[in-house]
Amino acid sequence: MLYPQEFDVIVVGGGHAGTEAALAAARMGCKTLLLTHNIETLGQMSCNPSIGGIGKGHLVKEVDAMGGAMALATDRGGIQFRILNSSKGPAVRATRAQADRILYKAAIREMLENQPNLWLFQQAVDDLMVEGERVVGAVTQIGIQFRARAVVLTVGTFLDGKIHVGLRNHAGGRAGDPPSMSLSARLKELQLPQGRLKTGTPPRIDGRSIDFSQCTEQPGDGMPGGVNEGVLPVFSFRGHASLHPRQVPCWVTHTNQRTHDIIRSGFDRSPMFTGKIEGVGPRYCPSVEDKINRFADKDSHQIFLEPEGLTTHEYYPNGISTSLPFDIQYALVRSMKGLENAHILRPGYAIEYDYFDPRALKSSFETRQIQGLFFAGQINGTTGYEEAAAQGLFAGINAGLQVRGQGPWLPGRDEAYLGVLIDDLITKGVTEPYRMFTSRAEFRLQLREDNADMRLTEVGRALGVVDDAQWDAFNRKRDAVSRETERLKATWVNPRILPQSEAERVLGKGIDHEYNLFDLLRRPGVDYASLLGMDGGKYASADVSRETLGDAHDAVVEQVEIAAKYSGYIDRQKEEVQRAAHYENLRLPADLDYMQVAALSIEVRQKLQKHRPETLGQASRISGVTPAAVSLLMIHLKKGG
Ligand code: FAD
Repeated sequence: MLYPQEFDVIVVGGGHAGTEAALAAARMGCKTLLLTHNIETLGQMSCNPSIGGIGKGHLVKEVDAMGGAMALATDRGGIQFRILNSSKGPAVRATRAQADRILYKAAIREMLENQPNLWLFQQAVDDLMVEGERVVGAVTQIGIQFRARAVVLTVGTFLDGKIHVGLRNHAGGRAGDPPSMSLSARLKELQLPQGRLKTGTPPRIDGRSIDFSQCTEQPGDGMPGGVNEGVLPVFSFRGHASLHPRQVPCWVTHTNQRTHDIIRSGFDRSPMFTGKIEGVGPRYCPSVEDKINRFADKDSHQIFLEPEGLTTHEYYPNGISTSLPFDIQYALVRSMKGLENAHILRPGYAIEYDYFDPRALKSSFETRQIQGLFFAGQINGTTGYEEAAAQGLFAGINAGLQVRGQGPWLPGRDEAYLGVLIDDLITKGVTEPYRMFTSRAEFRLQLREDNADMRLTEVGRALGVVDDAQWDAFNRKRDAVSRETERLKATWVNPRILPQSEAERVLGKGIDHEYNLFDLLRRPGVDYASLLGMDGGKYASADVSRETLGDAHDAVVEQVEIAAKYSGYIDRQKEEVQRAAHYENLRLPADLDYMQVAALSIEVRQKLQKHRPETLGQASRISGVTPAAVSLLMIHLKKGG
């Protein structure tokens, strides 16, 4: 049956990429359909119940700055929050939250169900409708044909998914879910370049069988005994600690020699070591058998016992992801302190799945072969909810722009972690599941979590994904930051009017000219709070109060402080970006025949011909394309070659 209504954008898959893609396209005013296996699993966390972390938290804040759902849902579902690297510089500080998976899913579902322009439909998609070189819709398992002007595929680990526990395996998309076999076959038929990857998950444990008295308690920030007691971190720029449910601690135990011996005794029945699994797994998130094998000299590993929610006893033992046979899983879990009587609720497993080589995507994430078909999330070779959400938002926006007849939105590496993620994927491809780290961003001083809104909300508003309430709150904050910065710059104090001890603390000895408060703030050991105390508050606190800076007081103070402390470094980084901009953004002609650029080596010519970078900056990041080759290419372009 041909469904009578036609859509602008169809999103296939209701995971983290799909939900952000569908919400973004709908916020832009596109008539959007989200087709997914099961409405009950919208926003499901397939693996660990946590959001954020270093690099990943940055992506979540960027999605949030552009009106996305992940951070808000985390504020509503988060049962433990921590600011990682809090004693380090602001560039690497990151928010991480433990989420109640039921509350998280409920928050996502509520947002989806209440989003204007968005329709949900529960059905597996088995086929794509392609006319000529353009996708025109999707066909479901029972043969319903939905037509649309663009299709975003976000089907995660489901394509030809194969689940492994020991030497046994079966087809599946995720434990308890069916794989996508027909769609996988159809994509193979369309000859989109692909490969196999794998990921894994640990067995889950019934908390009633854990002896917590043998484990170390790890409270979250703001919790009794935690950092900054009484002040709970918040994820979303639109969030508030009052949205958080009850907070609970995590627990820590350790593997030991006996655990490692048990694990080794299962190597001969491990699907990884016996060659049953061919897909490459994430190096940075290895299975426990991989860790014991690779780091044989380590006699213990830390294992975090993370609660899965407030209304369940289920615990996620972070650090023992495994596909070893169940008898080994059972024994290894019970060899650890506090877990001697542990009851396993769900076995751990590994999953192998198809992914598509992201180098076959344009920078907008549209496939090069089929117009109107976009890919986002784990299908592009990444791992992680946050990486998926960021790509989903991006592909949803670009599908929406295409439908509107507008060019794509392409954030640069200097503008967002999202820009780094996209550029890495399309220029370098993946050899293992890709995850984000702050070290991947060369301009990380300006790509901080705290300024994600300052970097992206205005762009989001122009694209139509930021609503009025978010825009108004953002403007209030931005105005307050610039007002307060100007006020500090215009307020001059003579150190002599400061109490002697205060003047010496702030300025050292022998300085007797005037300073403005912004300059004082630049000095080591001076923070905003200490400015307020100067001279009894006469110069600094007159009109600075919670009332004038409003709700966003802490966020405004944070921005003013960071701008003062790091302005030198940030300005230098901006200059670097400007110097590189011409070269970075120089567009390469779409029809350039690289094989005719005689100055380049054959290897470089072949690589450029194959990957067809859109800009000189992208060309420079393709492996094997040397700086010398880039210079030669630039000369060739200047000659009009
Ligand atoms: P998913 O969240 O997988 O969502 C895909 C959605 O598409 C699902 O709703 C599915 O039902 C739907 N779908 C699939 N096929 C069809 C179809 N044909 N028709 C309709 N709907 C369809 N990440 C980490 O960061 N660390 C880890 O340790 C980790 N371990 C993992 C372990 C396992 C076992 C799994 C399965 C995943 C793991 N991940 C891990 C990855 C993380 O779950 C994913 O990165 C993330 O969920 C990807 O989001 P996504 O939206 O791309 O896909």
